[in-house]
Amino acid sequence: MGLMKGTSLLLYAPAGKHVPVQFVKGVGPKGAEVLAQSKFSIASVEDLLQHYPRRHLDFSETTSIREVGVGQEVTLIGEVKKVKAAPPGRKKFPTKVTLSDGTSSIELAFFNQPWRAKQLRAGTVIAAKGKVSTFAGKRQMTSPMVDVIKDSDEVIKIVPIYPATAEIHTAWLRRIIRSALEEYSPLADPLPLEIRDRHSLLDRTRAMTRYHFPGEMKEKWEARRRLVFDELFTLQIGLAFRKRRIEQDTIGISHKVEAELAGRMIEDLPFELTQAQIRSIREVEEDMARSIPMHRLLQGEVGSGKTVVALYAAMLAVQGGYQAAIMAPTEVLASQHFLTINSLLTGTSMGDFPENVSRASLLGPEVVLLTGSVPAAKRREAIARIADGRADIVVGTHALIQEAVEFSNLGLAVVDEQHRFGVHQRIALREKTQGGSTPDVLIMTATPIPRTLALTLYGDLDVSVLDELPKGRQPVETAIVEESNRQEAYSLVRDEVASGRQAYVITPLIEESDKLEVKSAEAEAERLASEVFPDLRVAKMHGRMRPAQKESVMSSFRNGDIDVLISTTVVEVGVDVPNATVMLIEDADRFGLSQLHQLRGRIGRGAHPSKCILFASSLEEVDEEERKIARERLKALASTTDGFELANKDLELRGTGTIMGARQAGFSDLRLTHLIKDVDILKRARDEAFSMIETDPELSKHELIRLEMEGRFAERLEWLFHS
Ligand code: ADP
Ligand code: MG
Repeated sequence: MGLMKGTSLLLYAPAGKHVPVQFVKGVGPKGAEVLAQSKFSIASVEDLLQHYPRRHLDFSETTSIREVGVGQEVTLIGEVKKVKAAPPGRKKFPTKVTLSDGTSSIELAFFNQPWRAKQLRAGTVIAAKGKVSTFAGKRQMTSPMVDVIKDSDEVIKIVPIYPATAEIHTAWLRRIIRSALEEYSPLADPLPLEIRDRHSLLDRTRAMTRYHFPGEMKEKWEARRRLVFDELFTLQIGLAFRKRRIEQDTIGISHKVEAELAGRMIEDLPFELTQAQIRSIREVEEDMARSIPMHRLLQGEVGSGKTVVALYAAMLAVQGGYQAAIMAPTEVLASQHFLTINSLLTGTSMGDFPENVSRASLLGPEVVLLTGSVPAAKRREAIARIADGRADIVVGTHALIQEAVEFSNLGLAVVDEQHRFGVHQRIALREKTQGGSTPDVLIMTATPIPRTLALTLYGDLDVSVLDELPKGRQPVETAIVEESNRQEAYSLVRDEVASGRQAYVITPLIEESDKLEVKSAEAEAERLASEVFPDLRVAKMHGRMRPAQKESVMSSFRNGDIDVLISTTVVEVGVDVPNATVMLIEDADRFGLSQLHQLRGRIGRGAHPSKCILFASSLEEVDEEERKIARERLKALASTTDGFELANKDLELRGTGTIMGARQAGFSDLRLTHLIKDVDILKRARDEAFSMIETDPELSKHELIRLEMEGRFAERLEWLFHS
C-alpha cells in the first residue's frame, strides 16, 4: 500500500492522508508500534522524516586513538574488538570494551551498565565521547557517551545522530529514515519554483536528504534553510489565510474619526503624548475608520502609556454612538483601569458643544465597572446600563463575557494582557453584541515580545509598538545583592520611606495554589512587619485573598496609607503607583526574565529615581547549570531596562516554548526553527505567504500548499476557518 501512484508525500498531511510509518522498509507493525508509543510519537512517514538529527558526526574531525592524550575530552570512532562483561553481582567491576581505529586501541570502562555487553558486540562501529584518563598505567575512557554508528555495512562520511531512546537506537533510525527517503522520493514540493528561486532554496527532496545525510557539512546548512522556510511558511500561510477570512466574512464598523470627543480628550491631557503614542493612535485610527474589523496588537513596555491609546480608541467608538469594552485579567487591574480612565477624563472639557453631538459629548462618556466583586445590586444596574446603551465605556474582568452581559452596541473591544485569556475569550468578547457588525479589537500586552516572535505568534494581527517611555521617567537602577548585604537593602527601604516614598517587597510565591508557599510568603510578611520594619506601615497581598480584599489593600497603597507592600506577583502587571520607588525581590532567580522585568516596571513610574534589589539566595539549592542560567538572567536584568532586549535574551536562555505560557496554533511544530537566528527566513516566509494569499485567497492555484496548511492546523481547523 503506502501512497497511491502519482501522489507524493507531503510533510503536513491533512487527516486521513498520512502514510503510516509501518510501510517503511525495516519498520513493520511492531516497529511502528514502538515508534508511535515512544516520546517522539512517530506515527507516519512524515513524522519519521521530520525526526531530525540532533547533530552530525563528521569523521574527518575526530581524533585518532593513537594521538589522544590523557586529560583530553575527545570523540573517538572505532570498531569494538573485544567485550568483557562485568561479572554479575560485582558492582565495582565495569564492563570493558576494547575500541580500535586501526591506529591504536583504548579501553572503555562502563560501570553499572551491564547491558553494554549486549549493545556493543565485537564488530560494532561506535563513536565514544568522553575524557581520557589512566587506569593501571593504560589509557582508558570511563563511562563515555556512546553512539552506535554502524551495525551493518553502510559506509557514510558524515553520520547523523538522532534523538534516541532505549528501544529506538540511532542506528535503526538512520536505517529506516534512509529507507523512507529512498522509497518516497521525490517528495511533493508545494513551493512554486519562482519562490524557491527568489530565495535560493533547494527543492524539498534534496533538502530533506541532505539535512539527514549531508555529503559535506555545508550542505546541511543549505538544506536546513529550506526546511526552516517550510516550517515558517506553512505557519504564516495559515495566519494569512485566517486573517483574510476574518476580513472577508465579517462586516466591521467604519468609525468616524474626525476629532471631536477623542480629539478633545487628547488636548486636555495633562501631558504631551510620546511619538510612539502618536504613531500608535494614528494606526488605530486608520484601522477603525476602515470597514474591515480592526485586529491589532498594541505592545508596549510597562509604563509606556498604553491606556491612553486604548482610551483614545474607546473615545472614537463612543463619539459615534458605540460602546467600548475594556477587559483586564484581574480585578486589581480592572479597577485600576477604571480609575485611570476616570482621571484621564476629568480634564476633558465638555464645554462648547458642536452641532449634532452625541449624548456622550454633552455629558462626557459614562464609564462603568463590572467585575466579580461588584455587589449584586450595582451589578444588575451595570448590566442594565450595558444592555440599553447608557454605559459608554465598560471596564471589567471576565465578568464581561458572562452570559448575562449583552451590549447594546459594542463597537470596540480592548483586551488587556490577552495571553492570559487566550484566543477564545478574545472572540467571545467580540461576539457579545447583538447581530450586526463586528466590533474592532485592540489587544494590549505589556510583555515585550520580540518582533519576530510577535509575527509568528500573532501573525494574524497587525502590531503597534510603544517603544518609548514618557519623558521625565527615571530609569530604574537594578542590583543583585548578596545575602550578607541584606541589611543594607532594608536600610534603603527605610531611607526611601523616611523621605516620603513607598516600597514593594516581592516574595517568591510562584504557584498560588501551593499552600506551603502561601504559608512561607505569609511568614515572611510577618517577619518583615514585626522584626524588620516594626515602625513602618506594612501590608501584605497575595493571590489567595479575595478580590475585594486585594483591591482594598491596593487602594490604601495607592493613597499612601501603606509604606511597604509585601506581595506575591499579583502586583505584576499594570499596577501604577508613581510614589513607589524601591522594590526588593526575594529569590529572584526563581522568576523568568520577562516576569522580573514586569515586576520591576511597578517602580520608576514617577519623577523620583528608583531602585530594584534582587536577592538570589535559592540559587544555592539548584545545580550548576541552572545556577549559571539564573545568574545570566539576573545579570541581563541588571544591565538593561530595555524590555525588548530582555525578551530576546529570555528567548535565548529559555527557548521558545515558555515565553508566552501558552502556545498558539502550529507553534509546537517548529522543529528546526530558532526564532532569533532565523529571523531573516521568517521575514521572507511571511512576505511570500501573505502575498500568495492576497493573489490566491483560497489557495485554489496552490493545492498542495492548501493541503499542507490544513494538515498543519489540523487541530485548530475551526480557528483557521473562523468566519
Ligand atoms: P502601561 O503601558 O503600563 O499600561 P499606563 O497607560 O498605565 O502604562 O501609563 C503609565 C502612567 O503614565 C499613567 O499614570 C499615565 O497617565 C502616564 N502617561 C501616559 N502617557 C504619558 C505621557 N505621554 N507623558 C507622561 N505620562 C504619561
Ligand atoms: Mg473599523
